[in-house]
Amino acid sequence: MIRAVKGTRDILPPASAVWNHVESVARRIFRAYNYHEIRTPIFEETALFTRGVGEETDIVSKEMYTFEDRDGGSLTLRPENTAPVIRSYIEHRMDQLPGLQKLYYIGPMFRRERPQKGRYRQFFQIGAEAIGSESPAVDAEAIEMVVEILTASGLDGFGLLINSVGCPECRPVFIAALRERLKDVASTMCRDCQRRVETNPLRVLDCKVPEDQPIIETLPSILDYLNESCKVHFEAVKRYLDERNISYTVKPRLVRGLDYYTRTTFEIVHGSLGAQNSVLGGGRYDGLAESLGSKVRAPGIGFSIGEDRLVMTVEEKHAAVDRLSLFIAPIDESKFSDCALMAREIRRSGTRVELAAPGKLKKLLEQANKAGAVDAMLVFDDHYELKNMETGEQQTLTRQELVDKFTCKKL
Ligand SMILES: [Zn+2]
Ligand SMILES: [Zn+2]
Repeated sequence: MIRAVKGTRDILPPASAVWNHVESVARRIFRAYNYHEIRTPIFEETALFTRGVGEETDIVSKEMYTFEDRDGGSLTLRPENTAPVIRSYIEHRMDQLPGLQKLYYIGPMFRRERPQKGRYRQFFQIGAEAIGSESPAVDAEAIEMVVEILTASGLDGFGLLINSVGCPECRPVFIAALRERLKDVASTMCRDCQRRVETNPLRVLDCKVPEDQPIIETLPSILDYLNESCKVHFEAVKRYLDERNISYTVKPRLVRGLDYYTRTTFEIVHGSLGAQNSVLGGGRYDGLAESLGSKVRAPGIGFSIGEDRLVMTVEEKHAAVDRLSLFIAPIDESKFSDCALMAREIRRSGTRVELAAPGKLKKLLEQANKAGAVDAMLVFDDHYELKNMETGEQQTLTRQELVDKFTCKKL
């Protein structure tokens, strides 16, 4: 028997309704903030990710699905979508378009992670990028928008963590200080950290190994090393969040797993998710376009929501959102065509309707019950009855009354 590949899964009903709920909430809010959808390919040239994400990251060094194409080229299933969006921005000269480009995407990403609960090798992200501005006001708006999306999706009790990771001018000074301090302690840290001291010490701060945490706490803070322009930028982001009554915690150890981040970086965590408690990460990446070899500058900020985790946390609340509204039961064979016409009319209003094959009353009621219908419409040869499947309450209505009742219900 052939099964789904390890680390992948089928999203089945009724869970798929929760996915649709979360995605439609996100689309509605993206639209309200004047973001437009971008759809980039699932696979790209491997170089896009080795350059754009960084050779030293776990994503590129351990987790990418890379394969040789039939013509010998190297392709990779996208492990994230910021680099592809920036590639598209540059390729289509969106920098020539007036104003900020505000783009969003929803779709699958691929990483060959170690299998663990709640982690999938094909996982889904809902993300957005605002490209073409360095203004801290753009950062604050992006953060506000993502808070709106999570709240409207039904998530509560989450925490917003923010930090600044500096810029190419001030960060090297911090990294030098960090490296200096790490010389003394690195030998007691995990293997990855020992390697990172040489390759990218900033990523030591990002280590998730529990034994390393007490050491990480003693390392220098980047906030003490920000230069004047980065300080001013970070202060402005915090002020704009304060003015919008968005609460946050400044977490100086918060660095992102990806190398191209500059200045503002943020994460949203939720208690119910345990150790893997991050629902979302994001930040500014002013140097990404240049690191992809572009002469066009494309300073931007973005985030990506881990949709699998978001769905997991809001699933219980939304389990019953998408029930069958109406089960139409033709008790008399001769009424079947009438039932079909009514079903189509009511379906056109967006109501979820099931039309049964003609049959005996008792059997049809059983079917309505099993289908989880809210109401059953019983169509006899000379009259119509509507039965509430929960209360058992039954009433005789005219055809027009029934159609009106179910076409006014939705939309
Ligand atoms: Zn700086
Ligand atoms: Zn470590």
